[in-house]
Amino acid sequence: MAYEPCQEALATLYTYLDGELTPDKRARVQQHLDDCGPCFEAFGFEAELKSVIARKCQEQVPASLRERVAEALRAEGAST
Ligand SMILES: [Zn+2]
Repeated sequence: MAYEPCQEALATLYTYLDGELTPDKRARVQQHLDDCGPCFEAFGFEAELKSVIARKCQEQVPASLRERVAEALRAEGAST
């Protein structure tokens, strides 16, 4: 069974958005986003969502919401 690079990239996205990623991992995610259209779109969606929420709430994305988004992405990945 091949390892799923998209799953890893999406999982790492959350850390990437939070700015808590090591330069090494950040480079790997960036590289994957350059190569992978769907992940690039997912990243754009996440970044936009986060900035919209940040603008509206003037605070961090609630952990509960982030959990639900992560859950949706996990479910999506699991069904393919
Ligand atoms: Zn991908």
